[in-house]
Amino acid sequence: MRPLLARISSAALAHNLGVARAAAGATRSWAVIKANAYGHGLARAARALAAADGYAVLTLHEAAALRELGIRQPILLLEGYFDAGEISACYELGLTPVVHHAEQLHLLERSARSGALNLYLKFDSGMNRLGFALPEMDQVIERALALARGGALALMTHFATADETAGVAWQLAPFLERARRHRLPLSLANSAALLRYPDSRADWARPGIMLYGASPFADTGAAALGLRPAMTLTSELIAVQEVAPGEGVGYGLSWRPARAARVGIVACGYADGYPRHAPNGTPVLVAGRRTSLVGRVSMDMLAVDLSGLPQAGVGSPVTLWGEGLPVEEVAAAAGTISYELLCALAPRVRVVEG
Ligand SMILES: *Cc1c(COP(=O)(O)O)cnc(C)c1O
Repeated sequence: MRPLLARISSAALAHNLGVARAAAGATRSWAVIKANAYGHGLARAARALAAADGYAVLTLHEAAALRELGIRQPILLLEGYFDAGEISACYELGLTPVVHHAEQLHLLERSARSGALNLYLKFDSGMNRLGFALPEMDQVIERALALARGGALALMTHFATADETAGVAWQLAPFLERARRHRLPLSLANSAALLRYPDSRADWARPGIMLYGASPFADTGAAALGLRPAMTLTSELIAVQEVAPGEGVGYGLSWRPARAARVGIVACGYADGYPRHAPNGTPVLVAGRRTSLVGRVSMDMLAVDLSGLPQAGVGSPVTLWGEGLPVEEVAAAAGTISYELLCALAPRVRVVEG
């Protein structure tokens, strides 16, 4: 069998939720499991994160799958409903849609459904992505109160720079200035804000990446935050090449060793979700030792430098990321973030739990 394998640790997921809950104190947490739980599997993650106060997903399809699994916790739909049919589904499945745009209020006004519907009203406090403008808050709440028909309202916003030096204060202050008057529950913090800015915890936090054991920060690793990697992507060397000086490796021969080199070929490529743009030097573990990616990543394979690893040969274990090699380090070397690597894990990769 092709040796590429993603091992997903339910124990690590549960542990990381514990870290989030400890950081949250009395604040409740939506476990963010959108994008197939950042590549970890929706159902698997939902089970492992059963201690969460609620789950946040993107699509109705994901929410329906969670209800089919028997999940009773509240479910937050992060972009809300897209049409009238989805409003009905929100009632039937007992979901809490985010309402971020006037068009969604129109849809709800025209909906034939009656009864209570919990709503999360999203405001844009500076990210300029989703949400009503802050000065519209009073009117939006007034309209939504009528539409929720007794359902609970909450106010949310999202931070653009919680993981960067700019922090959250520049968004938090103007948001709270308006929101506090309404005495409604507030939901503000993603992982980075939850970990770094206690004053942004509010009533409900929305941790995502930290649950999967990756650090949201460039300057602090996951281990220092007490997090454990939930996904470890492993494979093996399936061939070894002796490369003479002047020769090159892979498509375009983009890596040309100055001296004779041994190169290992790993069964993992961009069709498995490994980033094709990862450059020479991206870290890879072979038999527990750190070495480097060399040459271009192919669809099904990549190459590593074995020059310092004379014992390594066909069958030697390889870790692409996870235990022993933080995914955020691999991501940084490839010029991206851990989120993208985790989400991109391809369906063809075998997944085992443990
Ligand atoms: C994805 C998402 C989160 C989770 O963010 P992390 O950085 O993964 O913790 C929180 N809130 C919203 C609105 C999101 O879209």
